[in-house]
Amino acid sequence: MKYLSNFINGEHQTSQSGRSQLVYNPATGEAQAQVSLASAEETRSAIAVAETAFHSWSQVTPLNRARVMFNFKTLLEQHRDELATLISLEHGKVFSDAQGELTRGLEVVEFACGIPHLLKGEHSMNVGRGVDSFSLMQPLGVCAGITPFNFPAMVPLWMFPIALACGNTFILKPSEKDPSVPMRLAELLLQAGLPAGVFNVVNGDKEAVDVLLTDSRVQAVSFVGSTPIAEYVYATGSAHGKRVQALGGAKNHMLVMPDADLGQVTSALMGAAYGSAGERCMAISVALCVGDEVADALTDRLQQEIAALHTGPGTGVSPEPHMGPLISQQHADKVRGFIDAGVAEGATLLADGRKLQVADHPQGYYVGPTLFDHVKPGMRIYREEIFGPVLAVVRVPSFADGLKLINKHEFGNGTAIFTASGEAAREFAAQVQVGMVGINVPIPVPMAFHSFGGWKRSVFGPLNMHGPDGVRFYTRMKTITARWPTGQATTNQFSMPTMK
Ligand code: NAD
Repeated sequence: MKYLSNFINGEHQTSQSGRSQLVYNPATGEAQAQVSLASAEETRSAIAVAETAFHSWSQVTPLNRARVMFNFKTLLEQHRDELATLISLEHGKVFSDAQGELTRGLEVVEFACGIPHLLKGEHSMNVGRGVDSFSLMQPLGVCAGITPFNFPAMVPLWMFPIALACGNTFILKPSEKDPSVPMRLAELLLQAGLPAGVFNVVNGDKEAVDVLLTDSRVQAVSFVGSTPIAEYVYATGSAHGKRVQALGGAKNHMLVMPDADLGQVTSALMGAAYGSAGERCMAISVALCVGDEVADALTDRLQQEIAALHTGPGTGVSPEPHMGPLISQQHADKVRGFIDAGVAEGATLLADGRKLQVADHPQGYYVGPTLFDHVKPGMRIYREEIFGPVLAVVRVPSFADGLKLINKHEFGNGTAIFTASGEAAREFAAQVQVGMVGINVPIPVPMAFHSFGGWKRSVFGPLNMHGPDGVRFYTRMKTITARWPTGQATTNQFSMPTMK
């Protein structure tokens, strides 16, 4: 069986922690690898390596750091199918979706290739007579990334390409559920010309995370995962003087107006609710229908599409299924428990994924597409993040009632409105308390050159992932005010120089 451990100082290092866990193929339920869980001491040794590597890496010119990113981009393209297969085998998402994940991650590498331009800073001549002012954007030092299972390539790629291009060194603590791709990324970075020790992977759990959050040599922590852990990471990292960005969970609503094109809404919802088995932080899990007529027509259409939706293994079968399994048996049981709770609380179950059997894969972690109607805001299936293929239809009498519900929800990651009215769309964009908003776009994930992040309890910390915020997060600004006196008066000065 494949054994995964740590990647420190440019090489695979076998963990001595004595702790490990199995990595499963969710499509079959078979264990396919074993991953070690790093000790606190091993994590500290990775920090020491990254701290040493920072001295030289931070001195490499931005142009040459960008060249490593260009090489890395080429390697990612060359290895795209291999990486997508690995993602699919450990996460369960279908192969084409895994390719899409890689593409979105690759776009951040492309953004990082422009780092010489992004680090140019600001310059003002003559802020006082003969005095110039300019800013430097300098790297922080050792940065850490702690990432979730649902995007084993894309979420780490949101972080480290920018951190490294800015001149930092990095320690990635990926999800212990699908660690193979992060380890391949480390190998490819080395092949791209990144010096040993600049990028390190520590596989582990809370023991490793707690060291990254408290060790004074770590300057900044980027986290993506569930809200309780995001809050813990933010509080603990901040209390230890670190810069922290921590992205959490979601419950994303789509507001469907009476004038929306229901054909467009149906296909948008099918992909946004059931793609990747609903294990996306930008999945739509609530359809807010304005009026019963819209709700009746939409649920009819959705039921027809659900009947044709094919669930199966993410790789190795043709034609490719629309949706794969969930990440683990435990998570599949949790999702089925939510469906039980929805029924018990009185929602109308229109499509039930609990009993789905996938031929030849009886041990896979499958839950079929599930649809509830008449869901009420007090129900658990409305309030909580399910992170599975479960779509809740909530009926609201008006645009204003729909908007109010979205704004009252504890999460504020993504949302969308489907409408033919520019006025409604404009009002929605202005008033909604959510970080990423789609207008007739179901999953409005910002491109790499914009920044990604939600509002409310979907995010902790002021700076979002990648784009301009990513560069700000991984750099510290220093402002220099300079005078080169040639023949200037040397009398004592007791007033502001800008007054002269
Ligand atoms: P998770 O919170 O269980 O794990 C995330 C990371 O935290 C993993 O590396 C894990 O090892 C670590 N971790 C887990 N428990 C810990 C603890 N007690 N102390 C310290 N570290 C701990 O999340 P997950 O199940 O891997 O991922 C799914 C969640 O991530 C969902 O809630 C989803 O919405 C969220 N997510 C959010 C975004 C976003 O951009 N907002 C993107 C992707 C996923």
